[in-house]
Amino acid sequence: MCSADVQSRFKLTCDRCLGDYLSDVNEHLDLIFTKEEDDEKDDNIVLLSQQDIDIDLLPHVREALILSIPFKKLCSEDCKGLCITCGADLNHEACTCKNEEPDPRWEKLKELKKSLESAEE
Ligand SMILES: [Zn+2]
Ligand SMILES: [Zn+2]
Repeated sequence: MCSADVQSRFKLTCDRCLGDYLSDVNEHLDLIFTKEEDDEKDDNIVLLSQQDIDIDLLPHVREALILSIPFKKLCSEDCKGLCITCGADLNHEACTCKNEEPDPRWEKLKELKKSLESAEE
């Protein structure tokens, strides 16, 4: 049994404003190393071959870290993103474009249209 706390810092690109930001990741790993083949399949169980003497933790650590990267990457929860018209980073500057909020009624209609389209397939 091997436990490891991994701390890492990733440089990620925000999906909304396309700016780089640093994300701290703290992962706790519990790995069980065994040389006996077991029916029990568990992500934490690492099967070693009989010849294995050294255990290479790095691939497991790397895998855990990659999995911990959020699917949706935002530099902050309330990132304002880029203006769709002029491309200004709205976190830093206010632009003069008038981007109106989409009317929720239109969104509903669009959804309805989409579900009709997918029903036809
Ligand atoms: Zn952002
Ligand atoms: Zn703008």
